[in-house]
Parts: sequence; structure tokens; C-alpha cells
Amino acid sequence: MASIGFIGLGTMGRGMAANLLAAGHELHVHDIRREAVEEFSARGAKAAGSVAEAARDAEAVVLMLPDTPQVEEVVLGPGGLVESPPAGRLVIDMSTISAAAARSMAARLEAVGTAMVDAPVSGGPQGAESGSLSIMAGGTGAGFAAAQPILAALGTTVRHVGPPGAGQTVKACNQLVCAMNLQAICEALALGRAAGLDLELLREVLLGGAASSWMLQNLGPKMIARDPSAGFRIDLKLKDLRLAGELGFQHGLPLPGLALATSLYLEARAHGEGANGNQALFRVYDRLTNQ
Ligand code: NAD
Repeated sequence: MASIGFIGLGTMGRGMAANLLAAGHELHVHDIRREAVEEFSARGAKAAGSVAEAARDAEAVVLMLPDTPQVEEVVLGPGGLVESPPAGRLVIDMSTISAAAARSMAARLEAVGTAMVDAPVSGGPQGAESGSLSIMAGGTGAGFAAAQPILAALGTTVRHVGPPGAGQTVKACNQLVCAMNLQAICEALALGRAAGLDLELLREVLLGGAASSWMLQNLGPKMIARDPSAGFRIDLKLKDLRLAGELGFQHGLPLPGLALATSLYLEARAHGEGANGNQALFRVYDRLTNQ
């Protein structure tokens, strides 16, 4: 079993770190929130007061941070992983960040003899807790091979999808599908509501046919119950839609569905829903339909 540094014990990271502990790995955990670190040291992990401390004795360091600036701080910043690489010379970034930044950080780490695998995930907090995430990994063949035994404790679909940055590109495609799927569900529920349908029954029937989806299965009940609790915050989804849009621009590609979905998410944030879960997109349809 490996000694692993784990940085970022938030909504996703806490379930993932728990699975690594359960798989018998030794964890050196770090987070800027002291209470998150204390929770894990009570569960048998070793508390690390800094990035360098989390990395020092580790065969690999896993990152699960909100966005590109936080990953850049941990990798490139003072006392970060370029200055203080893990003993095993492997960094696995599982956050959703910019593909260009992932490529650039992989090159900086490569220059100090350390492999970086970008391995963002899909499956939500439920998938993180149950170790059933879908993991899309970019990196060199050797980097992915070294990361695989660790990733196997976190996901059931674990694929090497290409060179550094490719994992983030696949994740952007994933988020396009998720955003438009959620929008379609909102629209169907709004129509069903206006027509006087029983929304639970509508959901149950849609789940039984070609309209079924992860979003309808997992977020549908919260949408119908008007429960806005996160989950996956609207703010983080907007970050992902921005990353997908930037990729579209780079390739000179019109992505009209993305543009519409992004506008609806921006409307949600403008109404103070940024910290709410993704299912709060349905409240945009409440407003559009005067509910
Ligand atoms: P989160 O905000 O709940 O957790 C992030 C954690 O990182 C927090 O505990 C925070 O204190 C810590 N942190 C922030 N900056 C830090 C730093 N400089 N050093 C150390 N710790 C720091 O976010 P999350 O929902 O767990 O998401 C993490 C990543 O996973 C994001 O990129 C997100 O887009 C992606 N993701 C989230 C979900 C989801 O359903 N929540 C699903 C798939 C992917």
C-alpha cells in the first residue's frame, strides 16, 4: 500500500480520501480548512500543515481543489510541488481546471523529474463516497501506469484518454452534456407542471425510457422538492462552462447549446444561487414561468 499526500478535503475530496484510507493507503492530508484536516486525522490520516509536508514522504500527491488558481498555487507557488515534489515523483490532479494550465504545469513538473496526471472526475459526491467515479486521465503512459493503482480505489471507470491536458478536455465535454441535460430536465418539469402533471410520476416514467439520465436520477428529486442544497455548486459549474467555452474559442467552434446553458446558469447566479446545488437551475424556470 502506498503513502499518499491528499490536498483538498471538500465535498468531493473527503469521500475520495476516505476510500484511499479504506483501501489501506497511508494518507498525509492537507487543506486550508483546519477542521477538515482534524476530521481526517481522527480517522487515522496524518495531518500535514503545508503542501511540502503532505508531499515529503509520499509516493504520490492527489489534488482535489476548486479551480485553476488553487491548483497553480499548490503546484507552482512558494513551497509548492515544483519546489517540494513528492518522494515518488507523481502528482495526480483530480480537480476540474483549464486544460492549458494542466499542460503547462505538467511541463513544469516534468522539468523537475515529476510526472503529472490530470484526472478529473464525474459522478458527484455520491460517486466520490462509493468509489464509483468515472475518471478521465491525461498524461504520459508511464504517469498513468503509476497513477492507476491509486485511481482504482476511487473510480470504476478509469481511462487514459491522451497526453497531459486531455483529461480536462474530456471533462469539458462531460460538463457540456451535463449542463444541457439538466436544462432539458428543467424545461420538461416546467412543461409538466404547467400542464398539471404529477412531477414524481413524470420523473419515474422518464427514468424508464430513453430520457433517463444521471441528472434525472440524482438531482430530479431535489428539483421537485425545491431543495437547493449542494452537491455541486452553481459557481463551480459556471467555472466548468467557462472552461468549455474557452476550448470552443481555441478551436474556433460555435457551441450554441453551451452559450444558452451558460446564460441560464448566469441568471441563477445573478439571483444569488451561486452556492446552491446545480438543481437550483430549476428556479430559473420558476422565474421564467412565473412560479
Ligand atoms: P469544495 O470547494 O467543496 O472543496 C475544495 C476543498 O479545497 C475545500 O476543502 C477547500 O478548503 C480546499 N482548498 C481550497 N484552496 C486550497 C489550497 N490552496 N490549499 C489547500 N486546500 C485548499 O469543492 P468540490 O465540490 O469538492 O470540488 C472539487 C473539484 O472537483 C472542483 O474542481 C470541482 O469542479 C470538481 N468536481 C466537483 C463535483 C461535485 O459534485 N462537487 C463533481 C465532479 C467534479
